[in-house]
Amino acid sequence: MAVFVCAGCDAVLTAQVSRVALPAEVHQIWGNGTLLPVLMEAGTYAVDLEPSGPPWRRWDEIGADEAAERGVYAPVFALSYGAPGAVFVAPGDTRGTVLIPERCGGFCCGLDGRDGPNLACERCGRAVATRIDDCSYWQSVRLDPEAVRGVPAEDVAPEADSWQALTEPRDRTPRVDQCGRWSPRWAAAAAVTLAHLLAASDGAPVAVPDGPVADLFRHALDTLLPAGRPARTAALAGPSLPAPDPEVDIALVPTHPRTGRTWQSPGTVAVPLAGDIWTQLVSPQRQLPIPVAGGMPDGVFRDDPLPLHPHTLFRPDWGVFLHTLARLPAVRERWLREIHERVRNRPYADPF
Ligand SMILES: [Zn+2]
Ligand SMILES: [Zn+2]
Repeated sequence: MAVFVCAGCDAVLTAQVSRVALPAEVHQIWGNGTLLPVLMEAGTYAVDLEPSGPPWRRWDEIGADEAAERGVYAPVFALSYGAPGAVFVAPGDTRGTVLIPERCGGFCCGLDGRDGPNLACERCGRAVATRIDDCSYWQSVRLDPEAVRGVPAEDVAPEADSWQALTEPRDRTPRVDQCGRWSPRWAAAAAVTLAHLLAASDGAPVAVPDGPVADLFRHALDTLLPAGRPARTAALAGPSLPAPDPEVDIALVPTHPRTGRTWQSPGTVAVPLAGDIWTQLVSPQRQLPIPVAGGMPDGVFRDDPLPLHPHTLFRPDWGVFLHTLARLPAVRERWLREIHERVRNRPYADPF
């Protein structure tokens, strides 16, 4: 647990928060006019180790060599040259901040942080954070790593680092909503995994098991990878599952929800999948009949609530896919670079 304080005057700027892995959707932009929920669960924070925020430099000013030195191996529109280590918290977990009225720019429905930090420390006036709540963005407060300081909070047990965390009962992000729309969180998490799957495929087709794994990945893999060569096989692996069969080449393994650490799967190539999504693929929640008391005549069956089914094919997030693929060293191989170029030049074309 930690609280974050103003680096200028030590005023407390957050509630007590515990660290979790950086969510896959942190840089996701999801459809103009769509108001997304809050990025971080209440009581948690995450750290973005890449530079973030202004100033930005465009790809043609940076060049491939300089980008590669900071772990970006394929063209991107622009890279941030702000400080690394931004801290994301839920807006409701901030304390003692005020908006800076002249920096409250946004596109249409709220603030998007285009003018730099828009929240100041209430006590000393130092700009300390950026509140983002415009449509298309996950609502969050991004604490400026150069303007705040993390202080360990006392009297709290150290956070557990066990894989037990995957099986704890907690609110899980449902894959579709009541209207049958796929969850943007699933689209972002699957896009990260899809980029890693392509890198692990070595350019061969990848076969995935029928069921929820196929729902997320089969169409995208079949569309992006050329047919013809013998397929590599991917399957779920991880805590509570038996070791993968010998013919499995690629293990879809969970990342730890708190540390971001990837489950180790000896003998196979491991491809990471966000822990809460992995858990739902391993044991999809089935809707069990709920006993009801009174009101219904004998012989009448309840047909509600109806099970949630998607009304479209699943589409991984285009932007998150490109963001991830550009940061995998394998994208320097010609076949994968061609896939990156094709996807980048045709925004949102099938399978995105
Ligand atoms: Zn809007
Ligand atoms: Zn201050």
